[in-house]
Amino acid sequence: MTVKTEKFKTEVQHLLDLMVHSLYSNKDIFLRELIANASDAIDKARFEALTNQSVSADWEIKITPDKDKGTLQISDNGIGMTMDEVINNIGTIAKSGTKAFLAAHQEKEMKNLPDLIGQFGVGFYSAFMVADKVELVTRKAGPSSPAVRWESKGQEDYTLDKSSATEQGTTITLHLKADAKSYLETWKIKEIVKKYSDFIEYPIKTPAEKKKSDGSESTELEILNSQKAIWLRSPEELKEEDYKNFYSHISHFGGEPLLNIHFSAEGTSEFKALLFLPSQAPFDLFMMPDQRKKTLHLYIRRVFISDECSNLIPEYLRFLKGVVDSSDLPLNVSREILQENAQILKIQKNIVRKVLAELKKLQENDKDKYLTFYKEFGKVLKEGVATDHANKDKILELLMFETMKNTDGKLITLKEYLDAMPPLQKDIYYVTGESRAMLENSPHLEFLKSKGYDVIFMIDPIDEWVVQSIPEYSGKKLKSVGKGDIELDDESKKEAEEKTEKADKEHKNLIEFLKKELTEKVKNVRFSKRLTESACCLVSDEFDPSAHMERIFKAMKQQMPQTKRILELNPEHPLINAFQKLYDKNPANPKLSEFADMLYDQALLTEGNAIPDPLNFSKKLASLMVTGIEKEVEVVK
Ligand code: ADP
Repeated sequence: MTVKTEKFKTEVQHLLDLMVHSLYSNKDIFLRELIANASDAIDKARFEALTNQSVSADWEIKITPDKDKGTLQISDNGIGMTMDEVINNIGTIAKSGTKAFLAAHQEKEMKNLPDLIGQFGVGFYSAFMVADKVELVTRKAGPSSPAVRWESKGQEDYTLDKSSATEQGTTITLHLKADAKSYLETWKIKEIVKKYSDFIEYPIKTPAEKKKSDGSESTELEILNSQKAIWLRSPEELKEEDYKNFYSHISHFGGEPLLNIHFSAEGTSEFKALLFLPSQAPFDLFMMPDQRKKTLHLYIRRVFISDECSNLIPEYLRFLKGVVDSSDLPLNVSREILQENAQILKIQKNIVRKVLAELKKLQENDKDKYLTFYKEFGKVLKEGVATDHANKDKILELLMFETMKNTDGKLITLKEYLDAMPPLQKDIYYVTGESRAMLENSPHLEFLKSKGYDVIFMIDPIDEWVVQSIPEYSGKKLKSVGKGDIELDDESKKEAEEKTEKADKEHKNLIEFLKKELTEKVKNVRFSKRLTESACCLVSDEFDPSAHMERIFKAMKQQMPQTKRILELNPEHPLINAFQKLYDKNPANPKLSEFADMLYDQALLTEGNAIPDPLNFSKKLASLMVTGIEKEVEVVK
């Protein structure tokens, strides 16, 4: 094969351009990323070696500076790559993280952006922060694969070529830029490895001058990292600093974890786990599982097995990062079989119990920290209410919501809501919608406001779905204020019923007229027990989807049959009497039908929905204004 030149995908070109020209801070992390890749590659080879002897080796990562040539080499004897893999992994194909990384950079000049590179799954390219040419020679472990040579100057293209290398694994040669020559210094390499890669399980070696007893000097390979599996040690032996460093190693996050959960389980399943609650949500939190960066590693007796064991933790705890090391799982079965192993489910059960308990503790003992966690990951945790029946009650205790009576941004638990309930209040009230601002003025809340009852604002899109799984909490029903009948305490109920019954009698023919007039749009027209100020509102039938739910589906371009709702009128609003007068005068007046439509449109508008024919609505409104203004002018005269 002759040398082949290939173009990078446009996004990769942008990314490289950024690496080469715009990222100045914290360039050290390029080494962390390349070592992490080398270690991942050995993990994979070691796993393979469990069933294929020809792959096994004395695992090591070597860092070799060459001051004469101005190059730094990072090599591993891990799994290596085939030609296709080179093209897919670091060549033409842009990964989802590439776009996200560019977007993050554009959004704000993030000072610690280089630190986050690994998180976006584009760590390899960080080499171009320090090198103006990168060569990669790799040979896939196993008997038959030829070696490949890849080279790029970090501009629009790269070249591919055959290589005569015979060893399995990958060697990356960085031709350092003039301002990056300090990375050739052994002390500098040592410093970076100690800081970021001390926990890597495989020895990271670099040539170092050694003085012999006879005074002469020789160059020997020195191991730079302690290789300590920190999760196997007891928490008493460890310092905060140890946890922090390991966290930044496993999460590719520079910051500190919000919480360390380090524990061991004995009994039906034996394992040790070191889990972290991150302080910041990653960009891929809501991406499909296979597109997310994997940061929970399963080990079996210190051997890395997989970072894709999806049964290890439930989806709603996917923000956890860390390591689980089992002592009783079988080592030599395929990952797929392992995935289904009953033992894994036992581990999961155990982890869930521990993590939920730790979250509860955090919520009780360090509210601020808990709120930081909740604001980042609450949306994910909530999924558990709908998906983990066994732990639903525990998760419910952890949820927090904004409410009508609390100030903007303040979150309370369901228990706090209960504790503050007036003695007569029967049910827990909630309303779903896009934002607090929109809900605050909803006519649905008027009556509850006047009674001094609080209403939970459910403003995460997921709430609409989650709340279906919470018919009640602590023996109290959860009632949507925009659905069905509102059943207040006995006294208010009586009072409201008297009003609606009276209005029913007085306006019987008007209601019949409106029902007929609006029959295409609503399933019923009736007097309301929930309005004290507004003239009208729309409510859903008890078991129908809410208007908000329909909006969410529409936004997702999903089909959902339109359900008709109920138009409720305020029995005490002057509009009703005026309407009645007009009707009594001449039931055939064409204005009546026009006003009926406007009533419906008005109800749509107050809940933040679009009206079907805005142009027509504003024409009618303008004409009403003219009448109103002329009357006003008359009075002023
Ligand atoms: P990430 O490691 O987060 O996937 P990178 O950009 O660092 O992102 O690497 C891209 C891919 O290239 C890796 O997922 C891996 O498949 C491959 N790769 C990188 N370095 C090596 C290596 N030393 N040995 C084998 N494969 C590697």
